[in-house]
Amino acid sequence: MTEKFAVPATPRPAVEVAGSTLRFPVRRIFCVGRNYAEHAREMGMGGERALPFFFTKPADAVMPNGSDVPYPSHTKNLHHEIELVVALGGGGRDVRVDAALSLVFGYAVGNDLTRRDLQAAARDQGRPWDVAKGFDHSAPITPIVPVAKAGHAAAGRIWLEVNGRPRQQGDLSDMIWKVPEVIAELSTWFELLPGDLIFTGTPAGVGPLVPGDRVRGGVDGIGVLEHGIVMQ
Ligand code: MN
Repeated sequence: MTEKFAVPATPRPAVEVAGSTLRFPVRRIFCVGRNYAEHAREMGMGGERALPFFFTKPADAVMPNGSDVPYPSHTKNLHHEIELVVALGGGGRDVRVDAALSLVFGYAVGNDLTRRDLQAAARDQGRPWDVAKGFDHSAPITPIVPVAKAGHAAAGRIWLEVNGRPRQQGDLSDMIWKVPEVIAELSTWFELLPGDLIFTGTPAGVGPLVPGDRVRGGVDGIGVLEHGIVMQ
């Protein structure tokens, strides 16, 4: 029997799969904070010994490549954070590092859009990060490239430019927690399932976006994300 709902049921968010008509159904979006030492330093956080950590965005924050992203309310300092995104095709709890890559369906490029002023205020006031990180349209993302097509992403340039000018630059090999470690560690906090996305952290060079900006960013071998920022 078909399930019937008391109010209209919104469709499940999904992301394109490169070279396929199938779509990737998004279950949860996990994000890693401060996974590149230089970015941790530019955020005023100390040194190599400070471990990365996790936060989340709602699944329906995803926006397809080429979108015009509306400038969010309540901020005067929207920031870009270009990131490698891991898309899980398998799941588990307490996954071992040496088994973690077998859970990966593919990889994408995403922008972890951030209301930086509200993030700083939350930190100073001991409040949660939801309004700073988990707002509507806060996760533009490219189509997912299946591992079967392009292999695993362990090294390669990650970059972002705004209106053609370079802003962020790094290499996946600079990640403090590598992809298998991110998956293993995350699975000690949450049971992972197919459909989960993991934004793996951003390199140094984060900065502000304003309406009218054109954002381009990529990870070598994975793809190029392009989107606009428009007035709400
Ligand atoms: Mn981030």
